[in-house]
Parts: sequence; structure tokens; C-alpha cells
Amino acid sequence: MPFPAQRMRRLRAGATLRRMVRETQLAPDDFIYPLFVVHGQGVRREIGSMPGVFNLSVDEAVAEAQEVYGLGIPAVILFGLPQHKDPIGLENFAPEGIVQQAIRAIKKAVPELVVITDVCLCEYTDHGHCFVIREGRFDNDATLEILGKVVVSHAQAGADIVAPSGMVDGMIATIRSALDREGFSMTGVMSYAVKYASGFYGPFREAADSAPAFGDRHSYQMDPANAREALREARLDVEEGADVLMVKPGLPYLDVLRRVREAFDLPLAAYNVSGEYSMVKAAALNGWLDERRVVLETLTAFKRAGADLILTYHAKDAACWLREG
Ligand SMILES: [Zn+2]
Repeated sequence: MPFPAQRMRRLRAGATLRRMVRETQLAPDDFIYPLFVVHGQGVRREIGSMPGVFNLSVDEAVAEAQEVYGLGIPAVILFGLPQHKDPIGLENFAPEGIVQQAIRAIKKAVPELVVITDVCLCEYTDHGHCFVIREGRFDNDATLEILGKVVVSHAQAGADIVAPSGMVDGMIATIRSALDREGFSMTGVMSYAVKYASGFYGPFREAADSAPAFGDRHSYQMDPANAREALREARLDVEEGADVLMVKPGLPYLDVLRRVREAFDLPLAAYNVSGEYSMVKAAALNGWLDERRVVLETLTAFKRAGADLILTYHAKDAACWLREG
């Protein structure tokens, strides 16, 4: 039944009609808000390349967590900036580490807010890599031992979900068994299963002070040219016991997100990373883009492509805009 009987514009004629036939709904429930926690008191230091995003001391992170939960956002993900860095990152699994302190304070103040913790070495090591380095090489299995200690310390502090991000082979199996062994069988694992070696992480490295001191991450993060490999990565993590899968970065990898969505039943997260955020912010600050429109369009695109959850620095703004309708 072609034209003129068929007219696609009929169902686009008014705002109410468009609402009725809208296929994808975006809501604050979809968002996970990243927080960067630092030592000190009353610290609220804006990250130069990420306007509107701050390094926060624990007291400020608690205030932020309360605001986030009040906006209807169900979860935060914590990144920590330690006092001192060393070759293996001792503060990463210390009971009084910055993330452990933040978990306890946030869970006490906002018990219903889901606290997810990023689990990696790069923010804590003096060389800035996600691995233990022995004799000039990345030592995969020594790194796994550290990751086991980190997740147990996060679980002891009260984390609901741990999120390993280092692309260390075997990390999900190691983490699952470390948690279970210590009695944390209900602590969830969200795997950065498909994480590409991306230029879009630039501003994050300022936020988390985690730039590698030498070399790059190409020998452990994925080649941006590969998509079939993403399915192998995801499959291994499913087999090893992941509860949630993630694809990172977001916007340049929507095709990968879609493929992972079609291949697996697990909840799927997309990380709308720092570079994606900074590009929109820079353009908006110059008056080149309508920020609200572009952000909501972008976040809707993640859901349309198959994401259940979106880690995004835009979460607070987007939650406000969605409320205003
Ligand atoms: Zn890392």
C-alpha cells in the first residue's frame, strides 16, 4: 500500500501523537553518575577539561550523592584519587582508602542509592598502568591477585556492585571467587567487558590523574577496529560470572553495543565517556550546539542501540530536563 494511501507524516503531526508512538523512553532510572573522590575536607575542584564535573572530598561526595538520588538517579560509580601512588597501588585495597571511606559515608547517608565502584590499578599506581609491572612487563596474574583484594575491601566497606575496568584476562572469574570466598556472594559484578583503547578518554585522565607514565594501553584494551572480538570478550565475562556487561566508549561504538545486546541477555551498560562529554560541553559553551537537545538525543541513542544503563556525566542535567518534560 504505497503513497498516497501510506503517509508516514500522519503519526508525526502533533506532539501527543509523537509521544504515543515513541519507541524509546529515556528516564533518570537509566543513569549512573560518576564521582571522583579525593582526600581532604570541603574540596570541590572543577576539572578543567570537564566543566561541571568535580574532584570531591568525601563530605562533598556525600552531598552530591544526596542530590543525585533526589533527582531520581539510582546509582553512582566511584573513582578514587589516592594520597600516594606506588608500584602496585597500596591504597587501592586499604580499609581507609579514599574509595572505601566514600562508600561507607555514602551508604550511611543515602542507603538506597546503589554504590558501584570502579576497580582498576591505574589511578593508584605510580606508573599509571592498569597492571602490576614486573621486569618491564605487564604481569596479568599478579594483577588479578590485587584485584581480588580490592573488590573484597570495597565489599567490606559496603559497595553494592564492583566494576573492574582494567581488561585483565580472567578478572571476572577472579573477582567472583574472591567475593564469594569472603562471604560477599550478593555483591554484583559489572564488567567493563568491551573497552577500547580510545582517544576519547583524554579528559578522564585529568579527572582521575591516571595517565600512563610511559607507553600506552594498546596491549590490553581493544583495537577500535574490532567488533567480532567484542563478542568474544563479552562471552568470556558472561561465562566467568559477570552480572552486567558494559561497552566503552559509547557514541563511537553504538554498532558494538547493538551487537552485544543481540548476543546476550544480561543487562547492558554504555559509558558515555569524558571526551564525548567534553566535546558537547565545549561546543555548547561556544554557542555552537543546543546542549539540552544534543544530550537528550545522545542518551536516547544509547537506549535505542540497546543499553539498559548509561554511565554519563550529563546524568544530573538530563534528569532535570526529563523532569521538566
Ligand atoms: Zn585502569
